Amino acid sequence: MRPPADPPLIRITDFDGARDAARPLDRVENVRAAGVALRTRMLRGRPVPYYRSMELVRVPYPAKFGYLNGFGTLPPFIHLCNRLFVVQFHGSDGLKTLLVSPSDWEFQRATPFFKRLDESMGAFSKLGEALVFRKVATVLERLAEIGLAPEDIDYITYDHLHTQNLTRWLGGHGKPAVFPNARLLVMREEWMSAQALIPWHNQWYCPGGIDGVPMDRVILLDHDTLLGEGVALVRTKGHTEGNHSIVAHTPDGLKVTSENGVSLDAYVPQLSRIPGVADYARATGAEVILNGNTLEYGVDQYISMVQEKAIAGPDPRDERLPNLAPSSESAGYWLFPRTAPSFTVGDLCYGSLARRETPRAAA
Ligand SMILES: [Zn+2]
Repeated sequence: MRPPADPPLIRITDFDGARDAARPLDRVENVRAAGVALRTRMLRGRPVPYYRSMELVRVPYPAKFGYLNGFGTLPPFIHLCNRLFVVQFHGSDGLKTLLVSPSDWEFQRATPFFKRLDESMGAFSKLGEALVFRKVATVLERLAEIGLAPEDIDYITYDHLHTQNLTRWLGGHGKPAVFPNARLLVMREEWMSAQALIPWHNQWYCPGGIDGVPMDRVILLDHDTLLGEGVALVRTKGHTEGNHSIVAHTPDGLKVTSENGVSLDAYVPQLSRIPGVADYARATGAEVILNGNTLEYGVDQYISMVQEKAIAGPDPRDERLPNLAPSSESAGYWLFPRTAPSFTVGDLCYGSLARRETPRAAA
């Protein structure tokens, strides 16, 4: 099968040099100003025709990582809801369908952190799994629900590759790809990093998660990139080396997605009612709380979260909050009391699913 042609990608230069200042707080302000410039420009264009996010699965996650330094007296775990985002946009060669964060969670359990968690429960493993893993729907079930076939998917991207296994989606080792026309958009650093991990990183990457994926299915990005009208991938290094955020222009402004923070509370910690979070923000002056499990670039992650807030701007429904949609959002859970965020994004839906303007040529 012939791989699809390279997409026309437009380089975004607003953030070039914004992190070069010697003084970290200067970097924060330079990135903030560049974020506002990008937002202003993107908002002059049209929103994407379709944007939707849907819950896939809920998994336990250590509170000490989710709210780094600010977890106070929380129980050891929070519950993270992994969402799939489906975004359609107009590229220069027609309508495109992008999946953001299509977590193939049936494979995620091989990630060493989850595997050890499983083993630590011993004989109670099955009960533990039933209690703390809530499996709502698979990616393919979600796509079928909204009327998309696997061959309709043009691109997939993940803000970073922790826990992900792409081999089923993109094929390899002689196995066909479930998404026969899709290509992965990934930052070069993230792709390289996932191939040779340091022993504390490796606890969060799925072993073999990218092994054998054909390189003609992978687009390595070196820059902030506009994919088409109203969708950009912006490098937001920190949570991982090659982390990026997905920016999509919706009728409610620019929605920005990543896992740098695990809830809106992490981006407005001074307003949070989660025990410890606001106290920490007040005591230190921190304007964001990092999601730090691998701590690859802590200072950069702080700057990246400020960057995300600047690009997103305020949520038109509540102007105190940034217009973010975390890819893994802490959801609260009775087993983990007092961990529910004060502000929740939940599932979002804008527009209606558009049909292709021209039938796809047989590959
Ligand atoms: Zn992660």
